Amino acid sequence: MSTEKQLKIGVLTSSGDAPGMNAAIRAVARTGAYHNMKVYGIMRGYEGLLSAEIEELEPREVSNIIFRGGTLLLTARCEEMKTVEGQERAANVAKVLGLDALIVAGGDGSLRGAQALSKLGVNVIGIPATIDLDMACTEYTIGFDTAINTGMEAINRIRDTSTSHERCSVVEVMGRSAGHLALWCGITGGAEEVMIPEYKELNTERVVQQIIENRSKGKRHNLIVVAEGVGGSVALAQELQSVLGIQSRATVLGHLQRGGAPTALDRMHASVMGYMAVEAVVRGERNKAGIVKDGRHALMDLDEALACTKPYDHSLYEMIKVLAI
Ligand code: ATP
Repeated sequence: MSTEKQLKIGVLTSSGDAPGMNAAIRAVARTGAYHNMKVYGIMRGYEGLLSAEIEELEPREVSNIIFRGGTLLLTARCEEMKTVEGQERAANVAKVLGLDALIVAGGDGSLRGAQALSKLGVNVIGIPATIDLDMACTEYTIGFDTAINTGMEAINRIRDTSTSHERCSVVEVMGRSAGHLALWCGITGGAEEVMIPEYKELNTERVVQQIIENRSKGKRHNLIVVAEGVGGSVALAQELQSVLGIQSRATVLGHLQRGGAPTALDRMHASVMGYMAVEAVVRGERNKAGIVKDGRHALMDLDEALACTKPYDHSLYEMIKVLAI
């Protein structure tokens, strides 16, 4: 009989749900089982850690979830976790549960919560999962591909009706502080203008001029994509209609863009990230984040990952102007 201590790990999903989180949970549970670990699912992100709301995750309990959006473990935003007292309480719960590692799947804020726990002696491994792709340490975050495909498909449908009525369509997509989703949806949906938070100065006048110019070149319908963080898509459509006399309609995709079955790319990244996180624990690594760098999966020191900054890449935005001709 083996005398090796059985390792215990916890996994939680935090912040906004992202398609692919379930594939990551499945990979953690199964890789853990492969290594004879006890794997606990922690419900509702840090809320569930604070209240020790946990369930043992046997391999069969994660059957039939790889293709589902959302997260089996549920998720929540937890203000208490931002306080020193909350962090100390959460670290204490992790210690009482005897967790050898806590795997956290979520966005930048969620990984900052994990970092706070690491300073209090909890071994944490972060998995970047957010539809917004707004984490400087990695080239990819789980959920992004599904969210752009959902946005693009919605735009395709809106385009059909917009073309038939020779309308101007304004489509508001998700992305509060980063414009990646809007840019990708705009480019893949064939938009002529994209309004993103990184370019706050972009004004309606410019959009009006763009539409006038494009109509004079024979365009019979128009498609403008607006990021949630810029907002005001209904007002923009009304203004375009009154200024240009062209029928204009706004569609806000909202949470429709968050759900849905994860794409193959998201399932793949999530599976690799979940597997890598547990393998890191087996090797005795501490306080890491899974990342994609130069197209390859890797682990980075968590502090280093959260200190990364990335200058905004203007090239895609510049390209839209060319492709809208
Ligand atoms: P998304 O991209 O979906 O917004 P996120 O992880 O950045 O993902 P946040 O709402 O910023 O989303 O953070 C999720 C949770 O992580 C918060 O509700 C809180 O519990 C915890 N958290 C966020 N920031 C911190 C911080 N600086 N310190 C400790 N915990 C934090």
